Amino acid sequence: MLSATDLMSPPAAPILMDPFGRHVTYLRVSVTDRCDLRCVYCMSETMQFLPKRELLTLEELDRVCSAFVRHGVRKLRITGGEPLVRRDLMELFRSLSRHLEAGSLDELTLTTNGTLLDRFAADLAARGVRRINVSLDTLDPGRFREVTRRGDLAQVLRGIDAAQRAGLRVKINAVALKGVNEDEIVPMIEWAHGRSMDMTLIEVMPLGDIEPGRVDQFLPLSVVRERLASRFTLTDLPERSGGPARYVRIEETGGKLGFITPLTHNFCEGCNRVRLTCTGQLFMCLGQEDAADLRAPMRMSEGDEKLEAAIADAISRKPRGHDFVIERAAPAVARHMSVTGG
Ligand code: SAM
Ligand code: SF4
Repeated sequence: MLSATDLMSPPAAPILMDPFGRHVTYLRVSVTDRCDLRCVYCMSETMQFLPKRELLTLEELDRVCSAFVRHGVRKLRITGGEPLVRRDLMELFRSLSRHLEAGSLDELTLTTNGTLLDRFAADLAARGVRRINVSLDTLDPGRFREVTRRGDLAQVLRGIDAAQRAGLRVKINAVALKGVNEDEIVPMIEWAHGRSMDMTLIEVMPLGDIEPGRVDQFLPLSVVRERLASRFTLTDLPERSGGPARYVRIEETGGKLGFITPLTHNFCEGCNRVRLTCTGQLFMCLGQEDAADLRAPMRMSEGDEKLEAAIADAISRKPRGHDFVIERAAPAVARHMSVTGG
């Protein structure tokens, strides 16, 4: 189904429509698998990172993103690993911002753990970024260090301050972790909404092997929502992002709260997105193994014909949906979230 924006500003090349009639308008791009933190649900303590030569260069990342924009992608989200640890990343934002200026892109955005925001917030704002997601699971410094295995909460809070000072709208993403931050969900909502930040809660997804069992960490958001409803008045909001989030307004705070529930609610029918890894693999579904290599066709020639053909072929293979099941002993998908890009 085409949106009003598609009709206003048609793409230069054919739009990307999958076999189920879903229009792909959103690309998430992982620019690195590296990170300065080791969140317990995301990475193992001893992650093996890719050799740097495997990564797409910044020019290649721009080439792939621009090919998607030509084919009707309206939103780019830069993610990782931790995207801000990638050297010269602001150069990529600068070059991609030309699509915003040309009106062929609606949004260029970022998901970050916030540790380096202090340094980069103003640069991001100057390159056309208007809102960002900051992942933060607790406001307790000791707990933050435990969950991230090394992080300094004060540094992230300074980053959030810098982002707001630079005029960026900040959304806080928190993974709901059983027995870890359950008791903080209400205070975190009050804190975020008190600072005019929306918040989204995320269910742990079974991606990649990590040390403690994920079944132990899994806290169904259906349970969280029930608890919140006894404390707050939650009004369902109609908005859909084409993603797995559903939103409510909390009447007492006036802020928005999202629930990302891949395991308790199937969100695939309206899926508008695909994900590019930092090595140029395109995943058509976060929860399936199938991927298309875009790096080889891109490197075969200076022109983009082979790249664009590979993209079209990949979209024609986008599956109907995922099949995550948290109770399985093994992860449903062997790669970590930091590889595919959250
Ligand atoms: N490093 C950046 C950050 O933390 O925002 C961007 C990448 S991170 C992989 C993106 C998001 O994925 C974060 O909000 C993180 O909490 C979430 N995430 C990582 N592993 C997850 C998992 N197994 N289940 C659910 N969310 C996960
Ligand atoms: Fe790094 Fe983000 Fe994964 Fe945490 S969730 S380890 S910050 S990539």
